[in-house]
Amino acid sequence: MKGGTYTALIEGLSDADSGNGYINKESGENGFNPIGRALTFGHEVFGHGRSAVLGRLDSQHSDAIQLENLILRVMGKGNIQRDGSNHDNNTKISNASAIPSYR
Ligand SMILES: [Zn+2]
Repeated sequence: MKGGTYTALIEGLSDADSGNGYINKESGENGFNPIGRALTFGHEVFGHGRSAVLGRLDSQHSDAIQLENLILRVMGKGNIQRDGSNHDNNTKISNASAIPSYR
């Protein structure tokens, strides 16, 4: 049996400096990351990392946004979603709230 731990360090801009690409679907207003580092961790590790390991290098933009939107729903913040306009190549994703197509 293998033992040990993994550590992930997340360093980056403050919420205020990293953009307000979180859209409240009820008010239509943009806001900042409503959860914080846990959401960023999920975006990076499961949205980009898992997708990249599977070789999905051409869909990193949509994979990470769709996974992050899934996390928001699971954590009770489903009224807030990202559309991709403030991420990577800054293009809106037509199906940003769809379930990611990778497993
Ligand atoms: Zn990303």
